[in-house]
Amino acid sequence: MKTLLPTSTAGSLPKPSWLAQPETLWSPWKLQGDELIEGKQDALRLSLQEQQQAGIDIVGDGEQSRQHFVTTFIEHLSGVDFTQRETVRIRDRYDASVPTVVGDVSRQKPVFVEDAKFLRKQTTQPIKWALPGPMTMIDTLYDGHYKSREKLAWEFAKILNQEAKELEAAGVDIIQFDEPAFNVFFDEVNDWGIATLERALEGLKCETAVHICYGYGIKANTEWKKTLGSEWRQYEEIFPKLLKSNIDIISLECHNSRVPMELLELIRGKKVMVGAIDVATNTIETPEEVANTLRKALQFVDADKLCPCTNCGMAPLSRQVALGKLKALSAGAEIVRRELARQ
Ligand SMILES: [Zn+2]
Repeated sequence: MKTLLPTSTAGSLPKPSWLAQPETLWSPWKLQGDELIEGKQDALRLSLQEQQQAGIDIVGDGEQSRQHFVTTFIEHLSGVDFTQRETVRIRDRYDASVPTVVGDVSRQKPVFVEDAKFLRKQTTQPIKWALPGPMTMIDTLYDGHYKSREKLAWEFAKILNQEAKELEAAGVDIIQFDEPAFNVFFDEVNDWGIATLERALEGLKCETAVHICYGYGIKANTEWKKTLGSEWRQYEEIFPKLLKSNIDIISLECHNSRVPMELLELIRGKKVMVGAIDVATNTIETPEEVANTLRKALQFVDADKLCPCTNCGMAPLSRQVALGKLKALSAGAEIVRRELARQ
């Protein structure tokens, strides 16, 4: 990509109110059957158009065809029973009713490949596609079969690799794995989390990214953040090993967070998607605020490796707020591009 500071989003964007209940996670669909299929495609087109109008450089599907970034992928796999639900603690933070692994997990057919082909047809811009990472997948399930988080993660990594290769063939430029669980289970991340992630991207020629955030702007997450103290140093635990990994891009939460920016020094050399938009507030950032976050990041990330981004997905926000934030991201990046051009 030639654009300096190419802008992007972490992935999800709000859905239109005719497709799903707005500002809600795991929002039920309002359409069914063929109408739902068509509705998801229409929503994808709208979401793409909004990203383009806001001036976003690396676009995505806004995750319009999925109810949730983890469960929708898992729903398409065999070996998981969605009627058998158990309550588990997600990322040690909040309880959720989740499906049960009842047998060997496998992918019988592609999950998002048709959606990705559809997106590819709509634009010549670079496109990014998000998949859940292996560790975050196992953390959103009850395992009644493998009885080993690590073993199940390796199985999911194999499945994700099959899907990722087909997404690459469909013309996806960047495949992103969402691993918010990397911010919680440090020992496991270093023992096998990064290894299973590398298995998921094995053999890919397109660019790969890992998104590690402090979660959607929902109450359970904002309450958890209050307990983390004045400096959030979680990234410090995993950056040394991530630097040595094969992953190309690391997507992080930076704006309005208490992550000390100097931690980015630990991954110098990698491309970084710097979160310059707070997804936990309805207040729309000014372009200058975005620019400020990017300027701080530029002390630790080389300009040709910095991609301005959102802290996390914006699915739980209103469409109006999300659009305002996308425009602020573009405008803020433009301010810094002009400054860099003058240097
Ligand atoms: Zn996130």
